[in-house]
Amino acid sequence: MKAVVEKAYAKVNLGLDVLGRRDDGYHEVKMIMQTVDLYDTLEISTGFNEGGITIETSDEAVPDDPTNLAYRAAELVRNEYDLVTGLHIKIDKRIPVAAGMAGGSSDAAAVLRGINSLLGLGASDNKLKDLGKKLGADVPFCISGGCMLSEGIGEILTPVRGLSGVKVLLAKPAIGVSTKWVYDNLELAGVTHPDIDAQIKALENGDAYDVCRNMGNVLESVTIGRYPVIEDIKKVMTENGAEGAMMSGSGPTVFGIFKDGEKADMAYESMKESRLAKDIILTGTYNRPDNME
Ligand code: ATP
Repeated sequence: MKAVVEKAYAKVNLGLDVLGRRDDGYHEVKMIMQTVDLYDTLEISTGFNEGGITIETSDEAVPDDPTNLAYRAAELVRNEYDLVTGLHIKIDKRIPVAAGMAGGSSDAAAVLRGINSLLGLGASDNKLKDLGKKLGADVPFCISGGCMLSEGIGEILTPVRGLSGVKVLLAKPAIGVSTKWVYDNLELAGVTHPDIDAQIKALENGDAYDVCRNMGNVLESVTIGRYPVIEDIKKVMTENGAEGAMMSGSGPTVFGIFKDGEKADMAYESMKESRLAKDIILTGTYNRPDNME
């Protein structure tokens, strides 16, 4: 038996714009993806189950069957490389589920990376991103993570200097939101588009205040319309000293950015007392070496 352990990091969006809907139904996006220091741990091992794929998860909200994105990622690599090796994938889930933090996509990316190194397939990051695209728009980003401008349907990725030296408070209310439902209900006419180019400039300047000023997410119009608790959570964050607070992805997780660590600690306590959120996590950003300057 051989085994490998991979970390699958969560992300938040420091900016999320939708430019339009393509004829094939996909949306053209322009987003800033930022990895945060919160991860699932996946152990992938060979020598099991006579050539099949099995999944074990620590969270009952996550399927342990072929609908799990991690399973689909393993199946994809096996087909691509004509592999017959049996694989067992054990997921220790810490990223909240259906939260707007790319938990499933990140697990899938970790499986692609893990099998590549476990079986010595020699696939480049670009090859893994191409494979990942077939599983979901956020998977290519999750192959490398860090901080990226993401365009097209999510597959055109350009590294951007990452946000650093801040605390990030994550708060998810006790609801799960389907990404498909949010996009299906998005009315682009009349929405306020965030200035993603200004956001890139703020990041490149290393100016956390400006980053917070330029945060914007067009999907808030849909998700907050249906779940006003998201606005209430944002308010708790800003009243407790967040420089900026916004919904991540299609929601419902809200993240707050704090320059001041003590204020972040106090905001964490206030969030608990408010009882608005089920999952509350205080962490930081996580950047790759080439994202640091
Ligand atoms: P994104 O930010 O990419 O839209 P998300 O964080 O909102 O993703 P996920 O946590 O990936 O959403 O979960 C969406 C649904 O996918 C869940 O309801 C779950 O049933 C299913 N799912 C399949 N595989 C996984 C996985 N490995 N981890 C979590 N959810 C999974």
